[in-house]
Amino acid sequence: FNVPVAKNEPVKSYAPGSPEREELLAVYNEMYNQEPIHVPMYIGGEEISTDNKKKLSPPHEHAKVLGHASIGDASHVEMAIDAAMKAREAWANLPWEERAAIFLKAADLLAGPFRAKMNAATMLAQSKNVFQTEIDAVCELVDFFRFNVQYMTQIYREQPESLPGTWNRLEYRPLEGFVFAITPFNFTSIAANLSAAPAMMGNVVVWKPAESQIYSAKVIMDIFKAAGLPDGVINMVTTRGSVAGEVVFNHRDFGGLHFTGSTSVFQSLWKTIGSNVHKYRSYPRIVGETGGKDFVVAHKSSNAKEVATALSRGAFEFQGQKCSAASRAYIPNNIWGDVKEYLLADLKSFKMGAPSDTSNFINAVIDEKAFDSISSYIDYVKDQPDAEIIAGGNYDKSKGYFIEPTVILTSNPKFRTMCEEIFGPVLTIYVYEADQFEETLRLVDGTSDYALTGAIFSNDRYATNLAVKLLENSAGNFYINDKPTGAVVGQQPFGGARGSGTNDKAGASLNLLRWVSARTIKETF
Ligand code: GLU
Repeated sequence: FNVPVAKNEPVKSYAPGSPEREELLAVYNEMYNQEPIHVPMYIGGEEISTDNKKKLSPPHEHAKVLGHASIGDASHVEMAIDAAMKAREAWANLPWEERAAIFLKAADLLAGPFRAKMNAATMLAQSKNVFQTEIDAVCELVDFFRFNVQYMTQIYREQPESLPGTWNRLEYRPLEGFVFAITPFNFTSIAANLSAAPAMMGNVVVWKPAESQIYSAKVIMDIFKAAGLPDGVINMVTTRGSVAGEVVFNHRDFGGLHFTGSTSVFQSLWKTIGSNVHKYRSYPRIVGETGGKDFVVAHKSSNAKEVATALSRGAFEFQGQKCSAASRAYIPNNIWGDVKEYLLADLKSFKMGAPSDTSNFINAVIDEKAFDSISSYIDYVKDQPDAEIIAGGNYDKSKGYFIEPTVILTSNPKFRTMCEEIFGPVLTIYVYEADQFEETLRLVDGTSDYALTGAIFSNDRYATNLAVKLLENSAGNFYINDKPTGAVVGQQPFGGARGSGTNDKAGASLNLLRWVSARTIKETF
């Protein structure tokens, strides 16, 4: 069979007066004004409720109640594993074309009838503006489904050579147990794909979404159901990570972890898995995307306006809550004056508020914990002799968790905010002597233990090449003359190394290959 050739889902513009904008705002208002909803757990196709409820509110309006989610305990995690293992055999034995069809249908449903609902749910749950949700929760997720179907077919067709008299075959079996997906709040597409990618390869999944993403996670489950995903293949349990981990990581059938989240959590899960490794049927696959401290380096030949635009968008889109967000910049002194002027002008034009007003470029950060952590970095800077805040610096959580886009200028290239991941709208800039380019590149590489994304701006091919070479291990996604965010599925496979993850590129066959356990069959005639 030939599968449809994957093409990137076109991003709609939501221009004033456009039909997509009218529809989106109508759905947003309906969801905002309706009676609070209940989000159950989805286990083996059943909706499971508990008495332990978590309130779901928009980060930009924390007094508002969108609904309540049932929170499970260890027994629900066990129930989800049982349901997954019960579904496993039939799912694993279903021909791949049938599995592919379900995810192609999910893509069509999301691109069509579910588009507005998915965008509105992500705007409400995660305070993401429509231009960002359209790219994330719709186009990227549609692309994950469609491109992964194409990659899975390529994998299944890849077969070894056979000498005359023999026939060698590779059978791409799913893992023998279940996959545990732990997913982040910041990208709805990542949350869905961490479950969907292993499932496409015939695995069954226990999915634990971030608590702050539950409201939009429900829409993902609705789409899977409407696409005809059989019961028990993906089970959503909403529970504390430690509760789920205790059950999952002690289970004989634990087959793999698909994780996006913080470096420290990933490292502690890896240790737990390591110390329990004798309990499992097979060595589990561990795939994780973790933190970042992503850089932008400008060379003296670069264009100041392009650099400033990359900084304002790369650092502040979605309030900097992207693992890929630009958070440390190295600008040569010959262009710094112009970069500063353009950057501060961009920031002045950014309006902040609820995403229902589509002119708000900046919305709220995800929750109080994030707000407190980000604002404590801003407070820290206020007392330091070697750094100053040159834009933003104010925050207010009285109604929603709002933090102004904040730019810090430091004379110390190892200043705390040049090194630590903040995961919020905070950018730190170090200005270097324009003729110290090579030393600066070494500094960029030596400043952070992360290696997710980075960018070089240069109009000098020798300088570009030097950056490509000296920063070869500093970023899994490296951009020349572009911002370090916004990887597109099928175009820039995404993932980082060092402290940023196992670099099993999302939305690529590299990732899908982690979810198979191949059997080699040699037949002699
Ligand atoms: N893939 C996203 C990008 O390129 C980032 C994903 C993340 O923040 O985890 O911007």
